[in-house]
Amino acid sequence: MARIRTLDVLAPVAATVVATGSITARFRTEAIDLARAEGLGRATLVHRIVELDRIDDEVLVAGGERFHAPRLLPESGELTALAFGAATLGRALPERVSALFAERRMSLGLALDAIGNLMLLEASRLLQDAVMAAVRRAGLTMAGELRPGDPGLALEAQAAVVRLSGAATAGLGVTASSALHPAKSTTVVYGVGRDLPAVGWSRCDDCRSRPTCRVVREAALPVPA
Ligand code: SF4
Repeated sequence: MARIRTLDVLAPVAATVVATGSITARFRTEAIDLARAEGLGRATLVHRIVELDRIDDEVLVAGGERFHAPRLLPESGELTALAFGAATLGRALPERVSALFAERRMSLGLALDAIGNLMLLEASRLLQDAVMAAVRRAGLTMAGELRPGDPGLALEAQAAVVRLSGAATAGLGVTASSALHPAKSTTVVYGVGRDLPAVGWSRCDDCRSRPTCRVVREAALPVPA
């Protein structure tokens, strides 16, 4: 059964914003105030651990779905399951950003969109914590993280990841081109098993987008406002 939680992700983001007195700072502050006032600061997290049906060479079969994800095969220990997770900020925040653009309040719209990206990053961290806790409760270990569309897992896996995570219960869906909706959403797959060693790789290692990646940049830095 999927575990689902809704958490505040605005407060931790607001606490990281560094005030500099710039115009950007003013809009960031305004965007945070707007998100707080309109209740846009919550994320829904959902995850589920699914036992492996079998491993076909480099293909992991779980829940009736096939994932070509050889990076998750451990050098030692035993891979016994995959953990599927999803996080979403829901429809309200993207719709509010669109409304601000329609009203030609571009700077505030961009600021709210940027705050939304940071909230999704925070949701992603909380999701990882929640999955790790569930894996530990099951007496297992967790190693390796892949996301559909990043190196190591094809974007076409998105629909299967959404299905197996139980993300539909959080209102999350997938378009014909494997994009998530609502827009401010993310999914993830972790390797789960017995005595899995820590991995020495990251999904970002071979990524061509890394030099300009917003996720990497925002994960590493305090937010200059
Ligand atoms: S660098 Fe960015 S786009 Fe590439 S895998 Fe990492 S998070 Fe994804």
